[in-house]
Amino acid sequence: MTLVRFAPSPTGRLHVGNVRTALVNWLFARQQGGRFLLRLDDTDTERSTREFARGIEEDLAWLGLTWDLFARQSERKHRYAEAADQLRAIGRLYPCYETEEELEARRAAQRAAHRPPVYDRAALRLQEADRRRLEAEGRKPHWRFKLNYPEYVNLSDMGLKELEALDISEFGWRDLVRGMTFPKAHSMSDPILIRSDSSPVYSICSVVDDVDFGVTHVIRGEDHVANTTVHIQICHALGFSHPEFAHLPLIAGVEGEKLSKRIDSLSIASLRDDGIEPMTVNSLLAHLGTSEAVEPYSSLDDLVGHFDLGHFGRATPKFDPDELPRLNHRLIQHLSFAEVADRLPVGADEPVWLALRPNLARVAEAADWWTVIRGPIRPGIADPLFAEAAASLLPAEPWDEATWGAWTKAVAQATGRKGKDLYLPLRLALTARAHGPELKSLLVLIGRARAEARLLGKEA
Ligand code: GLU
Repeated sequence: MTLVRFAPSPTGRLHVGNVRTALVNWLFARQQGGRFLLRLDDTDTERSTREFARGIEEDLAWLGLTWDLFARQSERKHRYAEAADQLRAIGRLYPCYETEEELEARRAAQRAAHRPPVYDRAALRLQEADRRRLEAEGRKPHWRFKLNYPEYVNLSDMGLKELEALDISEFGWRDLVRGMTFPKAHSMSDPILIRSDSSPVYSICSVVDDVDFGVTHVIRGEDHVANTTVHIQICHALGFSHPEFAHLPLIAGVEGEKLSKRIDSLSIASLRDDGIEPMTVNSLLAHLGTSEAVEPYSSLDDLVGHFDLGHFGRATPKFDPDELPRLNHRLIQHLSFAEVADRLPVGADEPVWLALRPNLARVAEAADWWTVIRGPIRPGIADPLFAEAAASLLPAEPWDEATWGAWTKAVAQATGRKGKDLYLPLRLALTARAHGPELKSLLVLIGRARAEARLLGKEA
């Protein structure tokens, strides 16, 4: 059964970048009839907090991205230690004693000699006596994973056929988004999996979890492409086959700039505070990076029906924050009164919602128009004589949507005005705003008494 995971570190709030990874995983799971695991990668105890963890859960729940399974890496440390022992036992994890300064000096020398700054595996040549001496000096080992390098081949010179014929099982992979993917073998160092304070690094934790939970598809950002060979090889070394991988290109701003600078304003919490609907966020993010036109979907089920991982390409998707209110406007045109009633001002009923809806980018904007309907507002009167003439022509109630047309026709006849000269002063007098919902609906909701008072220049 398909199992995917979303694995944020609780070191910040969710934003459009990482939540898109969550959404794509979630949609994929639902579409495959599979399950979705929320895993908190909280081994970095200095930066991870309970508040951020709670915030992540809150943001996912708001978007409707419910999880079937939940795990915290901080509660699984024993498993990472066991896996490390297993790797030591088969000689794939070896102790190293270099200090950071020594390693940096070596890398500098390699760069100076125009060689890639790859770890030279000096520690593999240490004898037992060397190790004892280093430990007697007070050095504590960190542990590197011994990569299996493929025979050196110049992958960039090979055609697709030859590439496909290569045994890529240990090094490259067929990525569900990127196609055949080969990292640069000659620039990869044996990665450190266990630090000298014995804490495990992300790669080993992640692989052990993926294996233990039976994750079938790892769908994540392209920033993890460079880790994937290591993940594949740790999986194999632990005796498992590796999951499928799909790496999505990272979202950039409209100019192609990194989103990280503005990430706070693009957090899910701030979009929610800004009145953007969860399905607006979901609809936009599910389409980013695909060639499909963005449509406002009113439910996740609808999105699942249209979702296809194969729609995602390798081009960098551009995220335009201004798209959100525009899409939100389109989305709320499908929201019924019942769906928004608890967010409308007390007293605003279905006719009010239907009259206002076409003009709203956000449901919360209804409050402002409710004040326009119920008052008090200070009317905008530029020509009092014209407004008084219009007031005297207001018909008797009851009113309906035909009232506006009949009344303005009468005003036009009496004053000789037409077009903008006729309608704009009436709108300014009745609503104090130059733009807004259709007056044929608003006039009925404002009612005769208030309409007359406003036309006569009174606050009402
Ligand atoms: N905690 C990692 C991150 O947030 C997870 C990456 C992965 O999906 O493997 O980048």
